[in-house]
Amino acid sequence: MKIVPKTKKVGPTRGLGTRYGATVRKRYVKVVTELKAPHKCPNCGFVRVHRESVGVWKCRKCSFTFAGGAYTPLTKLGVIARRAAKGLTAEEATKEAAKASADAEPAAEEKTD
Ligand SMILES: [Zn+2]
Repeated sequence: MKIVPKTKKVGPTRGLGTRYGATVRKRYVKVVTELKAPHKCPNCGFVRVHRESVGVWKCRKCSFTFAGGAYTPLTKLGVIARRAAKGLTAEEATKEAAKASADAEPAAEEKTD
């Protein structure tokens, strides 16, 4: 590879070239960026969680393995499901999740920046 970078903003789609369409590549960038981003372990709190397989996440620090989203360890729907499993009604859970996601949104944006 040459020292002068020839790519500007392709990110994870480097290697795909001009193929598959701009929209699909943009979607891919979004998903893969989140997938590769650092994730915190819900067990020990260390940022060592990596995806083992689709929906399977594992902490490299404490070997804690847990189910999550396909591309993120925690999804909005997963939060709702967890609350529902705790015994809250679906309506309460939805409200709580909406609140939680509203709180979580700025934090998530901070991370990407
Ligand atoms: Zn851990």
